[in-house]
Amino acid sequence: MPDSPPMPLETITAQMVALALEMGLSDAKVVDARAIQVNPELVNYCSPPACPNYGTSGHCPPYGPSSREFQLSLDWYEKAVVFKFDAPVSLLMSDERRPLSRRLHETAAILEQFAKNRGCIITMGVATGGCKALFCQGHDDCLKLQGKLCRHQGLAKPSMSGLGVDFTALSELAGWPLNRVTAGSPTHEGEMGALAGFVLVSKKAPR
Ligand code: SF4
Repeated sequence: MPDSPPMPLETITAQMVALALEMGLSDAKVVDARAIQVNPELVNYCSPPACPNYGTSGHCPPYGPSSREFQLSLDWYEKAVVFKFDAPVSLLMSDERRPLSRRLHETAAILEQFAKNRGCIITMGVATGGCKALFCQGHDDCLKLQGKLCRHQGLAKPSMSGLGVDFTALSELAGWPLNRVTAGSPTHEGEMGALAGFVLVSKKAPR
């Protein structure tokens, strides 16, 4: 049997979008990887007391790639599949956001594997939420910070805010209504927000 021809990246990313929607995401889009905007100042929101995840895992500041390193690495990728869950702001401001956030990390993991299986050489999944609170809440320590393999290797992704990704700019890029949720967001009934993630992909090796 002759090998099947390589799948074009356009087809792979279109299938990733379809898969994300099948998995129940509110929306998914393909964008140029280099169009993702990174702002190092946004990482300040990860510092105490704003975020309890600071310093708790190898995927949150001050560990993991810096925003500058992440920004430079965007040149390695061709496209990104960005995806989001819409949810009431009242839910996003409570611990009830955690199952949704875990599903974002799971979606990124599944889409990354999907892309790799179809010929993408490099991939990187990113999702909202610190992995210590999402996956290792019952453990005292992060294994990654001890130089060991992550308990949820492949599933737990770097935090989007920890890399300095500009959610507002990402929403504009994806054509989503602007609904960044902050501590001061209104929580009255009907007010909607979103949690997002993305997977960077390329069929070319980094130069
Ligand atoms: S071991 Fe747990 S806290 Fe550490 S990186 Fe993995 S999922 Fe995150």
